[in-house]
Amino acid sequence: MKLAKRVESLPPYLFAEISKKIAAKRAAGVDIVTFGIGDPDLPTPQNILAELHRASDDPANHRYPESEGLPELGKAIADWYDRRFEVKFTPMKETLPLIGSKEGIAHVALCFIDPGDIALVPDPGYPVYEIGTMFAGGTSYKLDCTRESGWKPNLDAIPEDVARKAKILWLNYPNNPTGAVADIAFFEKAVAFAKKYDVAILHDNPYCDVAFDGYKPVSIFQVPGARDVAIEFNSWSKIYNMTGWRIGMVVGNETMIDALMRVKSNIDSGIPQAVQRMAIEAVYGPQECIDEHNAIYQRRRDRIVEVLRRVGLEVDTPKASLYVWAKLPAGVTSADYAARLIEDTGVVVTPGRGYGLNGEGYIRLSVTTPDDRLEEGMRRLEAWKGL
Ligand SMILES: *Cc1c(COP(=O)(O)O)cnc(C)c1O
Repeated sequence: MKLAKRVESLPPYLFAEISKKIAAKRAAGVDIVTFGIGDPDLPTPQNILAELHRASDDPANHRYPESEGLPELGKAIADWYDRRFEVKFTPMKETLPLIGSKEGIAHVALCFIDPGDIALVPDPGYPVYEIGTMFAGGTSYKLDCTRESGWKPNLDAIPEDVARKAKILWLNYPNNPTGAVADIAFFEKAVAFAKKYDVAILHDNPYCDVAFDGYKPVSIFQVPGARDVAIEFNSWSKIYNMTGWRIGMVVGNETMIDALMRVKSNIDSGIPQAVQRMAIEAVYGPQECIDEHNAIYQRRRDRIVEVLRRVGLEVDTPKASLYVWAKLPAGVTSADYAARLIEDTGVVVTPGRGYGLNGEGYIRLSVTTPDDRLEEGMRRLEAWKGL
């Protein structure tokens, strides 16, 4: 059989490759400690699970859901944005639930990108921005982000002809993989750029409530006029430990939301309604879990940063996200470092190269490793003689 070029040109999904390596080691009897994927180890809060149990008994939730989601969920999304950012959205018109935000992030390129079109994509960055663009037949123009620039793109450095041709600009702060954050002034510049060049901004904000030391991440919609040019993806996954339930959201520009809704209604049949009920409960139920989780992540972050510095890596303490991003000694590639570490110690970290060329020379460690395993991993890392 002949597979499509889009499948054959697909790079191996970063985590799939790592999962394979882990499986091989485990099969060989090695005790693996992983700091790989950012997937909360703590369970979904009890009140949210109780709502799933209740909702699963209701036959109304056994049938096809609507693609646009329950009206109550649209209202919950709008209420959540109002409460969290003091930004008002019209439910359903300016809100749309997703089957996890990754689903919407992958499909949204179909709304903007025709074959040959350009997407502006930060490097390093979450791989799905580029892959979605490729699936739609477009090309990603990589925006260099470096430690010196606080892992933010310099929009003024984009060549005029590229900016004029570009259809979309992807942004993600707090950032995966670097843990970098952006302030309102940065988003103001981005909105001005988008208006000048008629580019749509797609901001990915799943870490807006995973933050430390009292820092409060912002929404792009705190910038006046952002709604003219932007949508923002968000998710219950990282905030409420709900990665396994697959529910996310996107809010903002009505025309853009409507386009994504029309694309999606031809692909999927919505989110299981019992899971939508969980998301509604997460919004209106007790919120103490957020501070509790962040206190745990912050303690783990501090421990990881301390040990990484002690073994000679350079680390900027992240204010938000689930990740510690560490600079390797000069001349060491991230793939070599990660491969040797897993080989010698059974400790898994993510090579920065998997997030783009500018991720080379860095590794990413997730703070979602349970405390006892984290201690074991840090003990092994400190005892490792290194490369
Ligand atoms: C985890 C993550 C997502 C996906 O979250 P889901 O809602 O679980 O699909 C999206 N973007 C970034 C940058 C992430 O790290």
